[in-house]
Amino acid sequence: MLAVTGGAGFIGSHVAELALSRGERVIVVDDLSSGGPTNVPRGAQLVVADITRPEQLNRVLELARGEEVAIAHLAAVASVVEASRFPARALEVNVVGTANVLELARRLDAYFALASSAAVYGEPSELPLKESSPTRPISLYGVSKLAAEHVTFSLAAEHGIRASALRLFNVYGPRMKPGPYASVVYNFLTAALRCEAPVIYGDGSATRDFVFVVDVAEAFLRAAERRATGVFNVGTGRETSVTELLDLVSRVTGVRLEPRRAPPRPGDIGRSVADVRLAREALGWSPSVSLEEGLRRTYEWLRTLTPSTRTC
Ligand code: NAD
Repeated sequence: MLAVTGGAGFIGSHVAELALSRGERVIVVDDLSSGGPTNVPRGAQLVVADITRPEQLNRVLELARGEEVAIAHLAAVASVVEASRFPARALEVNVVGTANVLELARRLDAYFALASSAAVYGEPSELPLKESSPTRPISLYGVSKLAAEHVTFSLAAEHGIRASALRLFNVYGPRMKPGPYASVVYNFLTAALRCEAPVIYGDGSATRDFVFVVDVAEAFLRAAERRATGVFNVGTGRETSVTELLDLVSRVTGVRLEPRRAPPRPGDIGRSVADVRLAREALGWSPSVSLEEGLRRTYEWLRTLTPSTRTC
């Protein structure tokens, strides 16, 4: 049985969906603060609970007792901007909440996989980023994720819990989040859909490692199947610049995008790409969806939400 915290959110809902498609029983634990009940896949059992309130997790204990359980822990304040606006709450959810979910893992004798982030690295001192690369987060969000990793491994050692932390790079795909600070993938695809000019901050040479959400979900399931322990990068190992991404989005959507230029945003890092050898070896996992194919699938999803009436 798989319990997915944050399973009403973008990535967690895909973890739940993939596990259900393989015949697993799934419990979703979510307070619906940023996720929505419509994201919870049919067949999953939803427990509305706030992970900062341990007593609210007792229901999961009742539902899962006696079964072999794995926990994919994705519930978090997942936005860099929101975390710096509400630092106390971000630390409470991302760090204290993680300790509470680990206590649940202890009581259920469950495997535990934490959704960590490439934000723990900060500005890279070497590329590609290895799990052993220095961790110097430059945002409160990154600090909270690094603290969550430390909490995970210290409590896991203390209580004999098998645990891993998956450092997710730039995840994109259906059900990704809109809003003023949405990911560059979302912004470029919606610009194409609306025939608008997307904004490029800086000269477009910044790079990211874009990984498709279903591949990320697969990494969680592999970690759980193998009861893998340790820290694993979850990216593609492929570095894509913002300018290359724009060209790819133009090709996939058939809309020639002419960007507007804006100054670089403070706090944005220059380059990022993962070394994914450890995940390949220990999880038997590798990404299977190319960026072009992933963009196509994400664009199809966006079009179902906002049927385009304009042509450009
Ligand atoms: P999301 O906001 O869509 O999902 C987070 C979910 O957690 C939401 O459904 C929300 O309602 C729930 N949640 C928040 N606070 C909670 C609480 N106190 N109790 C219970 N549930 C709570 O975000 P996402 O993009 O799907 O991110 C999922 C995880 O992956 C997060 O841990 C995030 O830090 C991590 N991550 C995401 C990315 C990315 O590119 N999206 C990259 C690296 C790491």
